[in-house]
Amino acid sequence: MSGAPARSAGRRLTLAKGVRFTCRGCGDCCRDWPVALTPAEVARYRARDWAPLLGPDPGGPGEDVVYEAPAHGGAPGHFLRRRPDGTCLFLDADARCRIHATYGEADKPLTCRLYPFGFVDVEGRDRPACGAAFTCSSVAAGDGAPITQRRRELDLLREELVAVRPPAVRPGPFTFDRRRSYAPADVELVLDLVAAELEDAGRPFPERILAATHFLTLLTSSSLPTLGGETPRKLVASFAAGVRDQARRGLLRAPVRAPPLPERLLLRQLLALAARRDPVTLHGAGELRRAPRRLGNLLSGLAFLAGDGSWRPVARDRRVSVGRVRREAPPIDPASPEADGALTRYFVAHLTARTTLAPWFAVPEVLAGLGLLLRQYPLILLFARGACLARGGARVERDDLAAALRQADWSFGHMPWTRGPIGRVRARLLERVDRALAHVPWAAERPRGAAAAGAAP
Ligand code: SF4
Repeated sequence: MSGAPARSAGRRLTLAKGVRFTCRGCGDCCRDWPVALTPAEVARYRARDWAPLLGPDPGGPGEDVVYEAPAHGGAPGHFLRRRPDGTCLFLDADARCRIHATYGEADKPLTCRLYPFGFVDVEGRDRPACGAAFTCSSVAAGDGAPITQRRRELDLLREELVAVRPPAVRPGPFTFDRRRSYAPADVELVLDLVAAELEDAGRPFPERILAATHFLTLLTSSSLPTLGGETPRKLVASFAAGVRDQARRGLLRAPVRAPPLPERLLLRQLLALAARRDPVTLHGAGELRRAPRRLGNLLSGLAFLAGDGSWRPVARDRRVSVGRVRREAPPIDPASPEADGALTRYFVAHLTARTTLAPWFAVPEVLAGLGLLLRQYPLILLFARGACLARGGARVERDDLAAALRQADWSFGHMPWTRGPIGRVRARLLERVDRALAHVPWAAERPRGAAAAGAAP
């Protein structure tokens, strides 16, 4: 991280709240992701004789360490070669980067030096937001140093990135829901109020997220045509304060009835996508090599839709199925200190990093995007129980929750759930943000009589 060129920092970043990171040297990011290269890196790496470093590895003498494949958006890009098992060519047996060890950190691809950080520019705001991927084991565990200690490095990395790829900005106004659009600054006000609600550690997480969903529901039903100007802003802030007060006095209730079938099907689709992610070895592969995986995805998706389906939790060796997790894994209390900490970290970081406003975030409607984010809540609970079951644990621990955050974040925002005719149906479902909470008992608790009857979801 420290090898970025020393230039003036320019516009300072707004750092996502609560994010901590210290590289653990696990090498997972060198196994899980394609490494995109800048044109300068392609030229530099191609000009170098790698034989002394790589020896008999593929990509050694005479072989190109760079390959071409469609990058994000379909345009051709250049990437660092990988071994057949998907690991980067430069990862050594001790999970160390050989480029870093030999040529210094600054010589590593920018993609590697950036990970796990990302930047989001929002129209009208002169300080880009900086967040971090929860797919990183350190970010997910939340046990590293606060990223506020890296401000200078992040500013410089951002400058380096902008020099090779000008930032994209999603143009405003943003579609808020089916009936209205809001200016970016107004949407940011809403995100800040939701984040403030979820961040308030004086109350248990379930109470805070209940208040946050009620606030969004109230805002949606208010039909305010704009949030610009002092009066609407005060009104919106008073919605948030009023809902918080109601939650404090115990007047709000989480949904107790099972969600309707379309909503259940939607959650299972979200679950299937997060549970089964394409391996990095398929990056740049042709249609023929992808065909078996596509078939597998289809069958797996059908199994999840039917109410079961299996996956291998992140950082675990054993596979688990939805049915077994629900019946056999220890239940999880979202108000426990471990769960509260992990959930708060995840949601507040995404809201303050403005993830749902990023140009790459594939659900452009703001409320549906927030509905998607809130549905991560039951998924995280189920994934944490799955990680616990896969290690044979008797209680869901912090490490299970970290594994769950990594799993949930794999696919978050990457799928255009609201596009096309079926997407319009999904958008309507996602706009019902309160329904996200209706899945929590299903995800967190054992079904009644599960031990005896092996109840299915
Ligand atoms: S170049 Fe180094 S840091 Fe980047 S993926 Fe390869 S081994 Fe990891």
